[in-house]
Amino acid sequence: MTHSPATDILLQVALRAEAQPIIDGEALRPIGPVVAHCPAQAFANSVANRSVVLITHGSDPLHKCDRIGPIAAATTCAAAIARFHPRLIVNIGTCGGFQSRGGAIGDLHLAQRLAFHDQRVPIAGFREFARGETDAPHSDALRAELGALGGLCSTGGSLDATPQDRAILDELEARCKDMEAAAIALVARDWQVPLLVLKCVTDLVDNPEAVQDAFLRNLRHATMQLASATAALLRSNNLPW
Ligand code: SAH
Repeated sequence: MTHSPATDILLQVALRAEAQPIIDGEALRPIGPVVAHCPAQAFANSVANRSVVLITHGSDPLHKCDRIGPIAAATTCAAAIARFHPRLIVNIGTCGGFQSRGGAIGDLHLAQRLAFHDQRVPIAGFREFARGETDAPHSDALRAELGALGGLCSTGGSLDATPQDRAILDELEARCKDMEAAAIALVARDWQVPLLVLKCVTDLVDNPEAVQDAFLRNLRHATMQLASATAALLRSNNLPW
């Protein structure tokens, strides 16, 4: 692996559809795969005198779909840290929200805390390890500047939620449900890189409509909102570094 100078901000986005408005808006140029012969792709530019690299998880070679979920999130993040040496990681993406906790489609969240709702190990010591609660510290000023809400984002390997997942999401008082953030948070913590998690609600977990229907209907609007919040974040003087 070639050694590169430090990157100021690494943006990690699972879906190409979520990344495209950011790539277009900031004129990020493709710089090839994050690691040779692996699917994750990198794009780069300088934004307001900051070096910015955006990575997407890329397409699965067998199933030809975007590599969503915690496994690609963790492996891609670790590879990107080793190559780009970021000062700050920002995970950007869509999420489920919770109307029972006041959530609505289109809400932006800058998560304050991350956890996993579908990792359960009822053995002393491993219980908390599996739950994987981590913090994503940042100032109230940054959240206000982005027009974002706070709260906990919980991650799991599934787009749907079983009754047990739902009970844990309620116990955690989750405001967002996604498939990547907590996995990225553990990698960022191990490598001691500060992390921000910016999510936009495409669907409501506790609404009778099927998650995938709401997700597909609201995806485009959410990605545009994420792109404008990302533009503000990249130029912000309130970053946690
Ligand atoms: N079917 C979609 C892709 C999967 S949706 C498509 O064809 O484009 C799952 C992605 O959106 C994941 O990256 C996840 O982080 C996010 N997401 C949105 N709503 C979610 C929810 N309710 N639960 C979990 N992840 C969600």
